[in-house]
Amino acid sequence: MEMEQTPLSSRTHVSIFGAVNAGKSALFNKLLGQDMAIVSEFRGTTTDPVTKAMELIPYGPIAVTDTAGLGDTTAIGGERMKKTEKILNRTDFAIYAADPSDFDETAYNSMKAQFEKRRIGHILVFTKSDLGSNGVCERYPDALHVSVRDDASIERLRSLLCAQLSKYAEQSNSMIGGLLPAGATAVLVIPIDSEAPKGRLILPQVQLIRDCLDHGIKAVCVRDTELEETLKELPRVDLVVTDSQAFKFVSETVPSNTALTSFSILLAGTKGDLREFIRGAEAIRSLKDGSRILMAEACTHNVSHEDIGRIKIPALIRKHTGAQPIFDYCVGYDFPENISDYDLVIHCGGCMINSRAVMNRTAVCRENGVPITNYGIAIAYLSGILERSKAIFGI
Ligand code: SF4
Repeated sequence: MEMEQTPLSSRTHVSIFGAVNAGKSALFNKLLGQDMAIVSEFRGTTTDPVTKAMELIPYGPIAVTDTAGLGDTTAIGGERMKKTEKILNRTDFAIYAADPSDFDETAYNSMKAQFEKRRIGHILVFTKSDLGSNGVCERYPDALHVSVRDDASIERLRSLLCAQLSKYAEQSNSMIGGLLPAGATAVLVIPIDSEAPKGRLILPQVQLIRDCLDHGIKAVCVRDTELEETLKELPRVDLVVTDSQAFKFVSETVPSNTALTSFSILLAGTKGDLREFIRGAEAIRSLKDGSRILMAEACTHNVSHEDIGRIKIPALIRKHTGAQPIFDYCVGYDFPENISDYDLVIHCGGCMINSRAVMNRTAVCRENGVPITNYGIAIAYLSGILERSKAIFGI
């Protein structure tokens, strides 16, 4: 089933923030339709953020996180606040829950400033509406009033969430939507050689075809062997996308005034700011002996690409620059505090985290004047295919 198949990283992340005892956990449970978080009468019982996957119909798969309460003054509260900030860094949309009888407007406004800084959309939800409203609520006419005892009010919240998330989805990154207008023609070069899996296409190819369809872009799929003929037959080609392995041949076949890029470059861009990553990759050429590179891996993978960050990219960089830079590694959600000591950050593909988390790390690098790229773009640069591929991005 769709819900079970969608990994956490591909789900839209909705987080519930609010003061301790604002009714967040009860709202979380009600939204999920099951008792996932512990609901308690005691203050601050939800010590760790709980994330659960759900299908928000008709929007689609989302992940909902119930955060620890804000404004907790106990010793452990500081730790909880840090956790809350980490959740903020991967939140796509926020619900701010408030109890009208105990609404701390200052806390809400400071959280709202955090949402705005990170460009996270949010809705203010007054909980416990069955206990009545008060004058404070009147100052927030756009807020939603709900009660976990009133199913209709929870339905209104679901509908509003669907509407807001659909807006968010329209704006979020697609592989090709921002590059070509509707009606454009893209030729996708898919070599069917011994390495191609039997009887099917690989995920980036399927994703790109779907993305073209979503954006009204005509996708013409050909093997490398039919490329030349196809280019002659088509009256207009706006972009050619190829498998990286065939890049050299394709680059020689496609006229120099036709835009060309690779599947992996387009895919790398769905997890971050592609233009920033391309600029970041170009910082590789200025690396010297002793330059410091942070290799940021979002999880303790253990999967097949283990060598890419530890062996392949460092070797390519040494060969390309003739220099001996220093490689440091960080794994997981934490970014080191001394980020400005680095000359370059190379982020992993980020398949286990959402693009918002990568975007936030990009923002930290930008603020500290440190270039950032990712594994896919760095490899494209080091293999010499980025130079021609970047024209379509206007760089
Ligand atoms: S690309 Fe990043 S997030 Fe994906 S498995 Fe590797 S380290 Fe984890």
